[in-house]
Amino acid sequence: MIWLFSGEQGEQYGYTDGFRDDEGTYWYTGEGQIGDMALTRGNFAIRHHQELGKSLHLFDYVSTGYVKYVGEASYTDHHTEIGRDKLGNLRDVIVFELELSYPEDVQGVSTPAETIPIKVSALWKQPLDQLRQLASSRAPTEAPPAQKKATAHTRSAAVRVYVLRRSEGKCEGCRSPAPFFKPGGEPYLEAHHIRRLADKGPDHPNGVIALCPNCHRRVHHGADGAEYNSSLLSRVAQIESSFGGSVGTLTLALA
Ligand SMILES: [Zn+2]
Ligand SMILES: [Zn+2]
Repeated sequence: MIWLFSGEQGEQYGYTDGFRDDEGTYWYTGEGQIGDMALTRGNFAIRHHQELGKSLHLFDYVSTGYVKYVGEASYTDHHTEIGRDKLGNLRDVIVFELELSYPEDVQGVSTPAETIPIKVSALWKQPLDQLRQLASSRAPTEAPPAQKKATAHTRSAAVRVYVLRRSEGKCEGCRSPAPFFKPGGEPYLEAHHIRRLADKGPDHPNGVIALCPNCHRRVHHGADGAEYNSSLLSRVAQIESSFGGSVGTLTLALA
């Protein structure tokens, strides 16, 4: 087993670990305090954990001396960015792109390889219950890294399209109609990740909500932003449970 602690390496040098909106993967900064980071030691172990037969487990710092278990992670890819080292010099920083699975996903849906990748335009035409399944999907644990990355990417796009379609053109926060239409005729609303703001949650229909620009600004910049955000969690649970009939197991998991 390899234990990863988010924010351990990154934050002191200005890199933040966390979910990347358009990727659906968790970005985790590698180790190495001075000079270019290399794929050796701990970084090697993350890169090759599948071949080495080791599982990755991600924890978040909550406060001094306390961590919270986020879930099991697996390597999908990595890239390098330019950042500063401990001495303030510019260097290559390795950023791992991890696919996370969560304890609650034990009964989740696996996506067959042939259904991915899919075009975003196709997501707008898919039956809503199928889209919801795609939005909740994880690659099988034993899937190769590239397939996990493709699944995470597709899931992320599917979640966004799903919540915009679920909203039927009305803000799911204040219920006002979308303020204007896009050139293609779709109502304009924004997909907000409720749990990502609260506790770095995953891409999942239960954690994402369609908001009008006012409600979205309120969550991120309002004096009552944090409370409003947590009220959205129960709001989205309510909305999802009204979809109950067609989405069985996932709604039960939520209840
Ligand atoms: Zn609103
Ligand atoms: Zn947001």
